[in-house]
Amino acid sequence: MTDWTSALYEWRTKLAHEGACDFDVLSEEPELVAWLERVFADNGALPADQFGPMVLRHRLELAQGALGKLQAAFLRDRGLRADLELRADQPSRDLPMGRVWVDQTAILAMTRADVLVEIADGFQDYVAGVHWQVWPECPQHGNGAHPETIDGRAMWMCRAGNHPVAAICVSP
Ligand SMILES: [Zn+2]
Repeated sequence: MTDWTSALYEWRTKLAHEGACDFDVLSEEPELVAWLERVFADNGALPADQFGPMVLRHRLELAQGALGKLQAAFLRDRGLRADLELRADQPSRDLPMGRVWVDQTAILAMTRADVLVEIADGFQDYVAGVHWQVWPECPQHGNGAHPETIDGRAMWMCRAGNHPVAAICVSP
């Protein structure tokens, strides 16, 4: 390991031992590692209380992108506007990374696909409760599809036969 990669590893290990992160900061997931490398390159070994606001901002960006796509897809499919918004708890002593919420669902993922799946889950609950819509449905079986990350892709899956219905937010 070079000095830089060992310093990066030390920083991640320190954060992991402090237990302030609400995600696995030692994960080898490539998208997460790439983000951690960028944060470290730009800021060095930030302490948890300065790292927390960056995690919150990153999650908000991922979550806002995901929510916008779902709202557009729902409008296209059902002609209805789902006017839910994200909420954020600011970082605090009890919650060093803060927390992003969509409806009653907390966003704990740190990658584009996994955040999209979590947002899709909260979005489904919202449109079921507010608009009385089961969305989206499996065209083959007629039941509601559920969001899942399959091989790194956010997918709508049908429990009948456990088959993929469509990629989330890509036109079927
Ligand atoms: Zn089906």
